Amino acid sequence: MKRLHAILAVVGLALGLSGTVLAEQTEPSQTLFINVNVFDGVNEKLIRNANVLVEGNLIKTVSAKPLNVPGAAVIDGKGGTLMPGFIENHAHLMLPGPSLPAMEAGATWEDLAIHGTQMAEMYLMQGFTTVRDAGGANAGLRRAIDSGSILGPRFYPSAAFLGTRGGHADFANYTSPPGEDTNFGRLNLAQEVDSVADMHKFGRNNFRMGATQLKYMQSGGVVSAFDPWQLLAGSPEEIEAAVQVANEYGSYVMAHSYRKEAIITALEAGVKSIEHGFAFDCDIAELMKEKGAYITTNLTAFDPGLLDIPAVKNVPASLAKAKSASATFAGYVDNMKRCPAKRGFHTDCVGSVAACNIQIAYEKHLNNSFFGPYASLVAMTSVGGEIAAMTGDFMNPYLDGKLGVIEEGAYADILILDGNPLEDFSVVGSGDKWFDAEPRPDSPETIRLIMKDGVIYKNTLAP
Ligand SMILES: [Zn+2]
Repeated sequence: MKRLHAILAVVGLALGLSGTVLAEQTEPSQTLFINVNVFDGVNEKLIRNANVLVEGNLIKTVSAKPLNVPGAAVIDGKGGTLMPGFIENHAHLMLPGPSLPAMEAGATWEDLAIHGTQMAEMYLMQGFTTVRDAGGANAGLRRAIDSGSILGPRFYPSAAFLGTRGGHADFANYTSPPGEDTNFGRLNLAQEVDSVADMHKFGRNNFRMGATQLKYMQSGGVVSAFDPWQLLAGSPEEIEAAVQVANEYGSYVMAHSYRKEAIITALEAGVKSIEHGFAFDCDIAELMKEKGAYITTNLTAFDPGLLDIPAVKNVPASLAKAKSASATFAGYVDNMKRCPAKRGFHTDCVGSVAACNIQIAYEKHLNNSFFGPYASLVAMTSVGGEIAAMTGDFMNPYLDGKLGVIEEGAYADILILDGNPLEDFSVVGSGDKWFDAEPRPDSPETIRLIMKDGVIYKNTLAP
């Protein structure tokens, strides 16, 4: 641990992180936060004028009474809000773009590693202390982050997307015959699975390559080449085979599912995390509750501006798909308000670090404008922690404490924000523009402190 602190101190200096506190301390190090109001990730009511003691990488005490801890480093939160680090449930840190065909034609290990490194650092400095990768990342990025050699959040990779020929994980060239070796396959970014046997083989290979859960592409997409968004890929037996393999590892399956038929089939097969889930309604909410399942949705999909982006507007087939999709998915927000389900935060950005930084900020903004600050904060913290915990005891790399909450025994993944995000949500670093937004700062000014695993990565609160 000492060595990690030393490495991080060097990295922090090299990056010029202002006010970063990375002092070497005798084990276990203690940090006492005073003069903060605590949002614990679950309850709307803040714990006013609280004190939070961190010991090592865990939260030791949360108290409204003063704590006397000789030897602890004291940080005055100046009346700001102390809350759990944000959790992203659906990112793609290893898909640099500029497009899927370009990556199939020319992406190398180096392109992925450099992009992943930059994305990981960007996510951490935006306040995300945990990120689940929804396809394309194997074990290496997590190893680099967890060993302290690069900066980044806790990381839950899914390894290769699993999907059928012609489905949403098929990035092969147009004339490429079925089963032919692809660049995406060699890099284990995506694998073609067309049978129960394929699902067994490539599902197990994903865990071997460092996946903490499996990702299955059940529905299609709007801007992708071969697949209608309405696609119902995979027989119930194939999806059950994915669930069976995940269960062998004590873990779960996340499924890219749009239509109601797809979502119901997935839930009945034992899928625990519905991705996108645009056709969400009250029947689905009921079934999710019965099955103990979660949904994560990129709310940018409901943005009317989507019909104006060049990849949609200039391709008649994509524009037609986008229009029919928006008509079908129009009920999502109202249904979620009427029949709330366990919903996690989901950005789903593929592309440059600068563009993803903007998209994350806009996704935060849409959460607040559709569902208000409290539901948004819960989605960004404790629900994400529950999803991470489904990884189970064998594959979860982070088993010392809970994620996404401020409570005794939880991981010390902590932010301090200026002001109260329940009153002014913008302090979380949201942005109300997407395509025509200005570039965003490396880290929002209103996020004054970022701690992950008991280590401080940013601190602009004066000593
Ligand atoms: Zn995705």
